[in-house]
Amino acid sequence: LPGLYIVATPIGNLGDITLRAIETLRGVSAVACEDTRVTGKLLHHLGLKKKLVRYDDHAGEGDRERLLALMEAEPVALVSDAGTPLISDPGYRLVRTARERGIAVTSLPGPNAAVVAMTLSGLPNDRFLFAGFLPNKAKAREDMLAELGKVPATLIFYDTAPRLDASLAAIASVLPGREVAVGRELTKKFEECRSGSPQELSEYYAAHPPKGEIVLLIAPPGEEPLGEVDVDALLREALATAKA
Ligand code: SAM
Repeated sequence: LPGLYIVATPIGNLGDITLRAIETLRGVSAVACEDTRVTGKLLHHLGLKKKLVRYDDHAGEGDRERLLALMEAEPVALVSDAGTPLISDPGYRLVRTARERGIAVTSLPGPNAAVVAMTLSGLPNDRFLFAGFLPNKAKAREDMLAELGKVPATLIFYDTAPRLDASLAAIASVLPGREVAVGRELTKKFEECRSGSPQELSEYYAAHPPKGEIVLLIAPPGEEPLGEVDVDALLREALATAKA
């Protein structure tokens, strides 16, 4: 049937593709993707050959209109380089406009690095907040950590190996005493998930420079191990609040 099929693809391990995803990719007339080489490889692995249409972060109005016109007449899949489309990946405007125009939109669930890291980390999962990538600039990064640090939920960020060091340093300074977890190369051969204080993880990764893809998680407030928090400062703050 015509429409837009949002299809999640593996985040590393090629076995992580659903039967429904394969059937859908087989049935569509075209696959919109970020990088035709990356998606071409996946389709080749699945034994499929499809028309690929580039739809990445730089896609403009014209690219979108062409895709929308196509999906009004035929089934079109949207995939990203890895994981679930739209999640820190292109597709938001496409889905929004398709819905506005009454085009059928279906989403096929599958791998997502944030969820894999959440389940591995051992951090509380009753509430979690996915916040995408931290800002590049130091001040903006610290401001965001200070703001989100108040939210009573585990925080989940996407990160990159070269930036991990700066992220951990910012957490150590803005949210000291919080337990942090780093999920790296998830679903791949060298998958690991390490947890500890931001200082401990900083030291570890200074000695073992990280490679590959990274998800960073921060425990909710109120569970800081004693001894790492400034008890005097907390008492002063509590007294000031009580007096006010
Ligand atoms: N849409 C994808 C998803 O559903 O997870 C995320 C795309 S985003 C552009 C890429 C980021 O996701 C990476 O920088 C990293 O933070 C995270 N990521 C993707 N694959 C990963 C993996 N195998 N292990 C750890 N993190 C991963």
